[in-house]
Amino acid sequence: MSNPALYIRNVERRYKQGDNELAILRGAELAIMPGQSVAMIAPSGAGKSTLLHIAGLLEKPDAGEVFIGRDPTSHLDDEARTTLRRLDIGFVYQFHHLLPEFTAQENVMLPQMIRGLNKNISRERAGELLKYLGLGDRQQHRPGELSGGEQQRVAIARAVANGPRILLADEPTGNLDPRTADHVFGALADLVRYSGLAALIATHNMELARRMDRRVTLRDGKIVELE
Ligand code: ADP
Repeated sequence: MSNPALYIRNVERRYKQGDNELAILRGAELAIMPGQSVAMIAPSGAGKSTLLHIAGLLEKPDAGEVFIGRDPTSHLDDEARTTLRRLDIGFVYQFHHLLPEFTAQENVMLPQMIRGLNKNISRERAGELLKYLGLGDRQQHRPGELSGGEQQRVAIARAVANGPRILLADEPTGNLDPRTADHVFGALADLVRYSGLAALIATHNMELARRMDRRVTLRDGKIVELE
């Protein structure tokens, strides 16, 4: 059996609030295999963003370990964490955060060029990804010339431009109308299966979550499998 792409092991995270400590994650455990998509459905304040930040190496847990593939990450310094994040982890947020002065194609090329790939290779891969996401004829549009659903699909293409092993998404369809959200979610699910990514997607939408391979929630700081 292959190794999980992402393994969150016994993670704890507490925040200080005045004299009190708020224990948000209390032994959270989650393993996601390559090609597997997991929806995380939990009420606001349950700790979804905290867990995504820890999984994405943006925040360190107070205890526990995050494995990317076979590799533990807690001992890494900031530079090593940044490198790993750039290569192995893609993020999609509720708002697309595309650069407004660049075209869709350039937005998808940029992370590849930052990583050191040349312009032609970056452009080719951007074109392939945008076509795959149904945006073949929108490559030269700037974000302001795209619909909300199109912008979000460009953001997904950008997140996977460097072929990460893991895709993390925080309410990726939260500001889209239901039909557009459905379309974007479908594109995301297809991409995960096709590319062998491991995806963890926070959403409030149970209907969309049903399209993922697994559904989990956060209860008392622990991950609980649904169904
Ligand atoms: P969710 O994404 O599920 O809405 P969050 O992970 O954003 O939840 O937050 C979980 C809880 O942790 C919330 O009660 C929030 O107020 C608290 N929290 C998050 N970040 C911080 C922080 N940096 N300092 C103090 N409390 C925080």
